[in-house]
Amino acid sequence: MKPPFVIEVPHPRYFRDDHCANCLTELPLDIQGLYCSTWCQEIAAQVRYVRRVFRDGRRDDPDVQLAIQTKNAFLVIGGYRSLGRKLTTRIRTEIRLRDQGQCQQCGKPGVEVDHIAGNSDDPKNLQLLCLDCHHAKTAENMVPASDESKALIMGMMVTRVMPDEPQLLADDGVNWNGQWRKLQAARKERFLDMLRAEGVRIKSKDTHVERVLAYLNATSPPPATPAPAPPPVGGDAFFDNLMRDVWS
Ligand SMILES: [Zn+2]
Ligand SMILES: [Zn+2]
Repeated sequence: MKPPFVIEVPHPRYFRDDHCANCLTELPLDIQGLYCSTWCQEIAAQVRYVRRVFRDGRRDDPDVQLAIQTKNAFLVIGGYRSLGRKLTTRIRTEIRLRDQGQCQQCGKPGVEVDHIAGNSDDPKNLQLLCLDCHHAKTAENMVPASDESKALIMGMMVTRVMPDEPQLLADDGVNWNGQWRKLQAARKERFLDMLRAEGVRIKSKDTHVERVLAYLNATSPPPATPAPAPPPVGGDAFFDNLMRDVWS
């Protein structure tokens, strides 16, 4: 998977039901929102913010420039850490249930299933974190921008910030703010329709993760033996290269 800073779309203001509004990958069932990850959510928010300040004159404000650069660096380094670590919907759902929807560091509502250390998908190495605690952990891993990460940001600027026509619906501040709630409600309705089609009983007190687990159990029972751990992929190699750039 490529880092989702540059997206090719068939037409401006593109959006596809049940696909991430930022990277266009299919959304797993446990995701109730319109982005596959908080990383994608924050990239789209950054695109909307930078588009706005480039057009309202604030782009020349040194404070605004610093804020943009800091956030860009954060998005490149922080998000890349998670690229090679795709968890299955079932594992994420089970961790969300086990951790009772709460951040395991501060108790606020959890949003991201985090690898505590390294890439192992063993439940003991996974925890639910809130956005703030996830950010704090990402910031610990920050390193200065390399040429590759600068190229990613440049690509985002050229393809998503500079064009007058926003490429993604989520890049378009005005339209996105007016539409995302409706789109999210429609996604929820489609999910409930899927449950009904599988004969899964919908109880009003059930949480979303409980419903997802009921659907998974109805359509694909849990495997008898755990799947072998996937080999390490792109994300960490990229990070290791960045670290080499820094230390050498
Ligand atoms: Zn995404
Ligand atoms: Zn927290």
